[in-house]
Amino acid sequence: METQDLKKAGLKVTLPRVKILQILEKEEDHHMSAEAIYRELLGAGEEIGLATVYRVLTQFEAAGLVSRHHFEGNQAVFELERGRHHDHIVCVKCGRVDEFVDPLIEERQQAIANRLGYTIKDHALIIYGQCSQSSCPCAKDEDEED
Ligand SMILES: [Zn+2]
Ligand SMILES: [Zn+2]
Repeated sequence: METQDLKKAGLKVTLPRVKILQILEKEEDHHMSAEAIYRELLGAGEEIGLATVYRVLTQFEAAGLVSRHHFEGNQAVFELERGRHHDHIVCVKCGRVDEFVDPLIEERQQAIANRLGYTIKDHALIIYGQCSQSSCPCAKDEDEED
């Protein structure tokens, strides 16, 4: 599976590339920083340096295998390009990222582009907020205020 993806993207199959692709494929949040990928490799006993992780991710991005997001206040995060458009909501406290697609929002953006005489080539909508996860630093702040 992974090796096919690499070949399709015109990349030689190397161990770091396969391992990093595997991590991105199984990561349930789908959005990971290079450091988080590096830590996961370390935890799995893989001797792949952070510089290599960055280099591989940049190659993946150039090959269209992953997209890179620069969310405000966070390190760049990477996600596998799955060919499905979606927008993002990002927690400004803990960096948690969720995805959403809202047909009404998509429709309105199309209508706005039409009205202004544009053909949409791409768009990105990012909502910044505070998440309600108990693991989030902001959840702790709120407890202290009560
Ligand atoms: Zn949070
Ligand atoms: Zn995403």
